[in-house]
Amino acid sequence: MQANEKARVIIAGGGTAGWLTAYSLGKRLGKLLDITLVESDLIGTVGVGEATIPTMRVFHDLVEINEPEFMRATQATFKLGISLENWANIGDRYIHSFGVLGQSTWMAEFHEFWLEARARGVAGPLEDYCLELKAAGRGKFATEVNKNRLLYAYHLDATAYARYLRQQAEALGVLRLEGRIGGAELHAESGDLTALQLDDGRRLAGDVFIDCTGFRALLLGEYLKVGFEDWSHWLASDRAIAVQTESTEPPVPYTRAIAHPAGWQWRIPLQGRTGNGIIYCSRYLSDDEARHTLLNNLSGRMLTEPHLLRFTTGRRVKSWHRNCIAIGLSSGFLEPLESTSIHLIVTAVARLMRLFPFSGNKELLAEEYNRLTNTELEAVRDFVIMHYKLTQRNDSAFWNVYRTMAIPEALAHRMAIFQKNGFTSSDAAGLFHVTSWVQVMMGQGLYPEQHHGASRLLPPAALKEQLDKISGSVNMNLARMPDHHEFLRKYCLSPLAKTAN
Ligand SMILES: Cc1cc2nc3c(=O)[nH]c(=O)nc-3n(C[C@H](O)[C@H](O)[C@H](O)COP(=O)(O)OP(=O)(O)OC[C@H]3O[C@@H](n4cnc5c(N)ncnc54)[C@H](O)[C@@H]3O)c2cc1C
Repeated sequence: MQANEKARVIIAGGGTAGWLTAYSLGKRLGKLLDITLVESDLIGTVGVGEATIPTMRVFHDLVEINEPEFMRATQATFKLGISLENWANIGDRYIHSFGVLGQSTWMAEFHEFWLEARARGVAGPLEDYCLELKAAGRGKFATEVNKNRLLYAYHLDATAYARYLRQQAEALGVLRLEGRIGGAELHAESGDLTALQLDDGRRLAGDVFIDCTGFRALLLGEYLKVGFEDWSHWLASDRAIAVQTESTEPPVPYTRAIAHPAGWQWRIPLQGRTGNGIIYCSRYLSDDEARHTLLNNLSGRMLTEPHLLRFTTGRRVKSWHRNCIAIGLSSGFLEPLESTSIHLIVTAVARLMRLFPFSGNKELLAEEYNRLTNTELEAVRDFVIMHYKLTQRNDSAFWNVYRTMAIPEALAHRMAIFQKNGFTSSDAAGLFHVTSWVQVMMGQGLYPEQHHGASRLLPPAALKEQLDKISGSVNMNLARMPDHHEFLRKYCLSPLAKTAN
């Protein structure tokens, strides 16, 4: 490739990963790239992936995706967090919200002051000190209150989202080809991919290849022989059954993750329907039993046939090898408990845009990309594992195994120092901040035995006054927020919405 020539980018696969990559590259680097996406309608997409986290909103701002327009096109609703039900014990519930808890100091985090106030009998529940947490529980929503933008994400129709991105990408000049990739040509010396072969005889030559072929990892796994690191000893679930139902109530601004004896069930409210599914481990539950459990726990008429998906949790040993970068399910999959897959697509695309191999030493760029990807994926993995490890449930073999399993060292250390001292910090990739770790650890019943001494510097009355100030401000802002479904109706009502309110 000459310096003044456009780099030829071939994207294999047109699911969320393929189209998000195509659109973003086209939008921000389109003048430097010639982008072709090839996908096969016969193979189709995974068709799930409906809950997101706030990075998606930030990324949408970077690549100029219009919020109300995209929400209308995808029947999207807002999400302030996840309601985790039956996780620590049967019958309990907590919300992991995207908001920040109270106010921290540089020395000690808010939860440490809260623990001190609790010990003195002057603290309210944790939700009193976080607007997003309290608003989620009350079904309230606004994008901003008092000129402060809330920390929120979306629930969306994954198929409609890929369709929407495709329209936007094609308008930017991305070329879409329909066809099944059946083979690849490699450079005899470098081992780089030089072209993909389609079943109908067409040949697609390129400089950079992006593997968005889903679990198949056709380019990176099959053609370039990059191995897979299996994490199922930590995250054992390997099956899911998904089904869509009619909405029976106005959409709540949170995802529901309801634990069962051998897995958990999601409930994702969109404007016109609800996405449901069960995640389970086939060693402990048969497909028939899983289907039965799922169907017995639905509310609303089924709109689709239950759809079985198989997966193995883990990652490709490298996401970038030679001139091929895997983005999306082709680079790895944890499980959807904390809705991190689309987030990982978004950060992978952003990382690729920063490290795109236009020139210079491409091996160093690939190494850096892989290093950052690994750090990020391990942080997400540990956060997800923690939900299972911290269960107190002993009602099934599934939970007994999870409760007693060995966990990654970094996670074991994090849990120990929190339990003994009350200390925790944001993860190395900067995704899950202190507030997230604290909400989940305490939500699962891991309360610190001690907390930072700075929390005792304030006399009792002053500590109470500080907390009351925060909760007063939360309540004042909450009172200004409409119900979630009212906000949706005014902001981005989808033509397909038939909410039951
Ligand atoms: C049960 C489950 C629940 C999930 N829930 C969530 C969630 O709530 N939130 C979240 O963020 N993520 C979730 N995910 C992950 C999410 O679904 C994916 O990250 C997202 O859909 C991206 O998928 P993809 O584009 O990588 O792959 P796919 O959607 O599988 O797309 C693969 C593409 O490659 C094409 N392709 C494959 N082989 C060929 C070939 N030989 N020739 C041509 N084209 C080919 C296909 O046609 C398709 O276009 C979930 C995943 C599962 C399994």
